[in-house]
Amino acid sequence: MKTKSKSRAHFDFAWLGYLGFLGLLGFLSEPLRVLRIATLFCLFFLAPYRKNFRFFFQVVYYALGQIVAVCRVRGKLPGPGRYAQKTRYSLPFEGFWTVAGGGIDKENSHSWNVFNQRYAYDFFVKDENQITHKHDGKALEDYYSFGKVILAPADGMVIKAKDGIRDSPELGSVDLRARIFHGNFVVIRHAKGEYSHLAHFKKGSIAVKEGDKVKRGQIIGLCGNSGHSYEPHLHFHLQDRANFYFAIGLPVEFSDFVLKKQGQVQKVKSGYILKGQLVMRNSFSAGPA
Ligand SMILES: [Zn+2]
Repeated sequence: MKTKSKSRAHFDFAWLGYLGFLGLLGFLSEPLRVLRIATLFCLFFLAPYRKNFRFFFQVVYYALGQIVAVCRVRGKLPGPGRYAQKTRYSLPFEGFWTVAGGGIDKENSHSWNVFNQRYAYDFFVKDENQITHKHDGKALEDYYSFGKVILAPADGMVIKAKDGIRDSPELGSVDLRARIFHGNFVVIRHAKGEYSHLAHFKKGSIAVKEGDKVKRGQIIGLCGNSGHSYEPHLHFHLQDRANFYFAIGLPVEFSDFVLKKQGQVQKVKSGYILKGQLVMRNSFSAGPA
C-alpha cells in the first residue's frame, strides 16, 4: 500500500492547471473559441487540496477576513512605536528556546504581509549544534520541542481551545490534510483587545477549556506538530480580536526573560525578542499580571 502511494506522488496534477491558460486563446480569437473549454483545466490547481477542500475554503476565508480586518483599522496597523501594550507577558515555556522566526520589522517578521501574524514568533528547542532533533529526525519524538510544556503567557480567560488534530508525521512539509492550519490551538483573552494565540499543540494535550481562567505560567498543553507545521514547534502571537481570521496582530514586549548571546547570559526586564535569539523565561516572572 505504501509503495503504491509513493509512486503516484511523483506526478503533481496541479501542473495540468497551466493547460487552462490555453482557454484564454479561445476568448481572444473567435475561430479558436473551442479552446474555451480548456479553462476547465484550471481546476487542477486545486489538486493539492483534493483530500481537504475544507482547507481550501479556509484559505479563501482567511484572505477575506484579513481584508475586513485592515478595513476595520482603516489601514493603520499597530506597530512597535504605535501600540501601548496593556498586559505584561512572559515567555510561554520553560528553559531556553530559539526564536526561529519573528521580529518587529519586515526583515525578521514571521509573516509581514499576513496582518494577524506580522508580529508572530516561532519557537524551537535546539541543541548546542543548532539542531532541533536527535537521531535522524524522522520521528516526532526525535524533536526536542515535541512534548515540552507550554505555559500561559499571562493571566486571562481561555476563549478558544481546539484539540483533536493529528500531529503531522510528514516532517519537513506541511500537513495538507489538517482541517485548520494552526492545528490544535489556544486563544487567551488578557485585556480588552489583547488575545494571545498559541498553536500547533500536540494532539490530546490541551489542558484547558473554553471559559477557564488561567494564571501566568500555568500549563495549557504540550508542544506538538499539528496543522501547518514543518516540525514540532510553538507558534505564538498577540492579536486584537478573539477570531484568528479577522484579527490584526500586535507587537509584543516580553517581561523578565533571559537572553543568551555567545555564551553570555543577559537578564532583560522588558523588551522585544528577535529571530535567532536564545531566550528563556525568568522563573521570577511568575506573579501578578
Ligand atoms: Zn508560526
